Amino acid sequence: MTTNIAAKKRTSADWHALANSQAIDGRAVIDGRRVGASSGATFDNLSAVDGRSLGPVARCDGADVALAVKAARAAFDDGRWAAQAPAQRKRVMQKFADLLEQNRDELALLETLDVGKPIRYSLAVDVRGAANCLRWYAEAIDKIYDEIAPTPANTLALITREAVGVVGAIVPWNYPMLMASWKIAPALAAGNSVILKPSEKSPLTALRLADLALAAGIPPGVFNVVPGYGQEAGSALALHMDVDCIAFTGSTRVGRQILQYAGQSNLKRVWNELGGKSANIVCADCPDLDAAVRSAVGSIFFNQGQSCNAPSRLFVEAPIEREFIERALALLPAFAPGDPLDPQSTMGAIVDANQFANVMRYIESGKKEGAQLLAGGIQLRPESGGHFIAPTIFGGVDSGMTIAREEIFGPVLSVLAFNEVEAAVRAANASSYGLQAAVWTADLRKAHQTARALRAGTVHVNQYDEDDITVPFGGYKQSGNGRDKSLHAFDKYTELKTTWIKLG
Ligand code: NAD
Repeated sequence: MTTNIAAKKRTSADWHALANSQAIDGRAVIDGRRVGASSGATFDNLSAVDGRSLGPVARCDGADVALAVKAARAAFDDGRWAAQAPAQRKRVMQKFADLLEQNRDELALLETLDVGKPIRYSLAVDVRGAANCLRWYAEAIDKIYDEIAPTPANTLALITREAVGVVGAIVPWNYPMLMASWKIAPALAAGNSVILKPSEKSPLTALRLADLALAAGIPPGVFNVVPGYGQEAGSALALHMDVDCIAFTGSTRVGRQILQYAGQSNLKRVWNELGGKSANIVCADCPDLDAAVRSAVGSIFFNQGQSCNAPSRLFVEAPIEREFIERALALLPAFAPGDPLDPQSTMGAIVDANQFANVMRYIESGKKEGAQLLAGGIQLRPESGGHFIAPTIFGGVDSGMTIAREEIFGPVLSVLAFNEVEAAVRAANASSYGLQAAVWTADLRKAHQTARALRAGTVHVNQYDEDDITVPFGGYKQSGNGRDKSLHAFDKYTELKTTWIKLG
């Protein structure tokens, strides 16, 4: 694998040449070493860009997970990481973030090959966001203080936070590096040992993250990566008796299973970040209709619609519905799917054939159930070997339709008209999900009241795009529990200890 590729503006031909020259190492990282699965099994990792094989990846199972947990436990118990001075751990994690930036092009390329997202976003969003996340939690390490309780003078009560121990992180394929960094950065910063199980669809950047962590000085055994299938490596991690916590991001269906695994094993802490069906409510008094249209379209089609927080339900007040749709349709040419390795492309490929088939099934169900297909709904670029779907908009959608209720996780926008904002809020909240929501209005009172009434972990007012490592990210209801990002993420990876001391 070529590392330290000099950052420069590359053309599509450059990226393809670089892709063809990559020698990819798909072995696991356990106890500081690259190793194959102990069974010798591998699975074939297919590129989302053109369907070609990227090479074999270790198919880890319970035996490999057991080795990784043993290494992680030994590393935690002997304090090789947790007992280092906070300022030293900070320096190591800052170096880890530096190494991500120094290997920016290689990491972005692997991300695009694995999941099909446009290279421009792999560079600007995924690698940059992951490095920023590592650096932010590194900075926090020597700036967080514990507490002393206001107890009587003859006693002292210390309230301290301690690392939970061995953390299993199981992540999805839509933002492989970002989702991994949202878990590993606070978990490592708090002094834990971590075992990361990336999605079988996107294992490559996770493995490179582990190499870079070692190069930065994170001791062997502290950060392990076990690629493999959910039913094999993932379940073994979540069922393991010596794993203290599972930080999971993925579907609500699997999140439910992870809670059951915890119940069947050692009652490990489970933090779930799950699916969404976010509602975007645009009132007729929206202060900037163009901005609302750009944001609605840009947010649903970003990452080919494969974002947990994509605003897939667009509620538009009836008097502006027609104009809104016309302006949205006029923007679609800017979202034409193209070669993910072309720096000009703003939309790329769906991750694989299965996900492509899922999305196409939802498009068919929208048509069958009576929604009006206003744009898209078709496959594009079939000759490329990748799976591309034209940005799709359905009008005349009813809250009872499947496309309005279920998470599609593809480039499909459902437009629902409303007459009163209260009715839109009721329909928005009628979902089993509660990840994000938005309201667009020039009326301050309506904005506040609607934001309060929406049952979601994040509510946007007159925008949908703001995001920052400083704010928590997570959902209400079946969108999960706990929060990634911000200092609140430390709540997941630390135990709270009270120590009473008798003074007199
Ligand atoms: P998924 O649930 O199928 O898989 C997620 C991870 O779990 C993968 O690593 C997979 O291998 C593993 N897994 C699967 N079955 C398992 C099992 N039985 N035991 C243990 N692990 C198992 O989800 P996906 O298709 O990879 O990702 C898409 C989902 O992720 C969407 O629902 C999306 O909304 C959600 N997501 C949520 C957030 C958030 O922050 N809330 C962020 C990104 C994605």
